[in-house]
Amino acid sequence: MKNKEHEEGTALSDRSWAEPYKIKMVEHLRMTTPEQRERAIGEAGYNTFLLRSSDVYIDLLTDSGTSAMSDRQWAGMLLGDEAYAGSSNFYHLEETVREFYGYKHFIPTHQGRGAEHLLSRLCIRPGDSVPGNMYFTTTRHHQEAVGGVFVDVIIDEAHDPESEHPFKGNVDLGKMRSLIDRVGADRIPYLSLETNVNMAGGQPCSMENIRSVCALCHEHGIPVQLDATRAVENAYFIKLREPGFAGRSVASILREMCSHTDGCTISAKKDSLVNIGGFLAVNDDDLAERARNLVVVYEGLHTYGGLAGRDMEAMAIGIAESVQEDHIRARIGQVHYLGQKLMDAGVPVVRPLGGHGVFIDAARFLPHLPPEQFPAQSLTAALYVDSGVRSMERGVVSAGRDPKTCENLLPSLELIRLTIPRRVYTQAHMDVVAESVIELFKRPEHISGLRMVYEPEHLRFFQARFQPVVPASVVATGADAQSIGGRQEDEQ
Ligand SMILES: *Cc1c(COP(=O)(O)O)cnc(C)c1O
Repeated sequence: MKNKEHEEGTALSDRSWAEPYKIKMVEHLRMTTPEQRERAIGEAGYNTFLLRSSDVYIDLLTDSGTSAMSDRQWAGMLLGDEAYAGSSNFYHLEETVREFYGYKHFIPTHQGRGAEHLLSRLCIRPGDSVPGNMYFTTTRHHQEAVGGVFVDVIIDEAHDPESEHPFKGNVDLGKMRSLIDRVGADRIPYLSLETNVNMAGGQPCSMENIRSVCALCHEHGIPVQLDATRAVENAYFIKLREPGFAGRSVASILREMCSHTDGCTISAKKDSLVNIGGFLAVNDDDLAERARNLVVVYEGLHTYGGLAGRDMEAMAIGIAESVQEDHIRARIGQVHYLGQKLMDAGVPVVRPLGGHGVFIDAARFLPHLPPEQFPAQSLTAALYVDSGVRSMERGVVSAGRDPKTCENLLPSLELIRLTIPRRVYTQAHMDVVAESVIELFKRPEHISGLRMVYEPEHLRFFQARFQPVVPASVVATGADAQSIGGRQEDEQ
């Protein structure tokens, strides 16, 4: 594996490098035939969320809760103190969160959305505007569920998959200022500041931007709540790309990022290398007190928040491992290894490559499909049938509907995400994935569009069902693909 951006300044600059761990236990994968996969995706309503994992070969649906724990984390599981109240694992985790993230108060939750729920309920009043640097599905859902109105304040470059801006997660200070002018600071309960913005393709914020946007908000008395789910990955990009940070440790960059803000919600299923867990951490004493009161209602006592003692122990150990330089370099290096292969073959991907996955621009990959035929959803189904690789749609299905008009929201990005679990797959798996995507890219006209035949009320992408616009038999045989739509040769 060679990768220039990750090797500069290391002794490895002219040598290949490999994963900084070895495999101690293996999990067998089931190999399937194309016919079995055709059947499986049909039964799943062409929604990769509804596939059984035993039908999947390489699972790139998400990096959420899918990472491999270390031997030390597994050893920690045996140290679970399953007391209902005051578990020693809680205190270990609290101390770890304080050490690495720096906030004063820590409240565990069963996962990230549990923390988002508490924060939204405690801070947002009906009609409030809640600005964010793009949205995340569950975050926005909880904000809207309590009457908040989400306002996107990310820089325009984030919506352009070809922009090479190194910090596409940045907040546009002009947009933030004009929101404050328009609605008044007292109708803005907080800025929801996401690190390594998921929906933009895993794109980081710069320290400069975090510092200045926090200064602007604080000037107006508006707190900044970090969605620090992928803050460690963001810290690594700051180290690589932002002048003045090359010599700093990822751990110290993370601490500095958090130090500008007032609190955070975290899904520990990402950076923190565990299969379940999350937390809310805040500096404000009063907010912490109210959160401790509310967590009892929805998650569990404030010293376990829906988690077993062993889960909290694994999380404490995982957080410490997550900021280690060799870990984070290899983690993002693997994502970029796959991304580089796709870029070399001309596959349209979101640039620059992000932290947790490679995002393919399905609108450009499948130019013959109109947005109403869900190009990204269609591509996830086709990729699965081709090779058993499971990916996720991040486009019009995920965006959902406008809560007021009930119209489909048409996001500027129609993407599929190849999300890489941490420490799970090898470079050889990445080669298999790249070959499958490239194969499909050579004959996109064989891929049929989809129509939605079942639409759930909430977060529809999880459970919606589809059917091909063109019957599967026609697509499978590739019969006269030209007559189905034909490839648009003028597409760049
Ligand atoms: C996954 C995720 C969440 C939600 O966390 P869960 O643990 O899945 O509930 C929130 N924000 C971001 C950025 C995420 O990636």
